[in-house]
Amino acid sequence: MHSYDDQNIFAKILRGEIPNKTVTETEHTLAFEDIAPQAPTHVLVIPKGAYVTYDHFAAEASDAEIADFTRTVGRICNEAGLAAGNGYRLISNAGEDAVQEVPHFHVHIVGGRPLGRILGKA
Ligand code: 5GP
Repeated sequence: MHSYDDQNIFAKILRGEIPNKTVTETEHTLAFEDIAPQAPTHVLVIPKGAYVTYDHFAAEASDAEIADFTRTVGRICNEAGLAAGNGYRLISNAGEDAVQEVPHFHVHIVGGRPLGRILGKA
């Protein structure tokens, strides 16, 4: 069961109540700069629909939303020069153990520096 809190910060960004530095916007997807970047490129990609986590999005989003989101992530990796450069990492935190801060599904695209191994210590 996924209950969506429409007062989360990304919902406010989608409603235009909080400004953002938009990287790209499509029919179903918004991508913007992370406010506290952890790498030279740190973009957040979110669906416009009300989904909490990856599994929620995968289960309930339409094929059109999923295709649009997936292609937008890939396009940004290309346009940011990461795909043809030294690469990138996609991260999607869900729930408490992953320390998900904002309960609106998002993928982090990070790159532009060596990122180390996938997981640090808790
Ligand atoms: P999470 O831990 O939920 O995967 O990541 C949430 C991300 O959202 C963090 O990297 C944080 O810096 C970013 N963030 C939090 N509030 C804002 C905001 O108001 N604007 C933007 N652009 N990013 C935010």
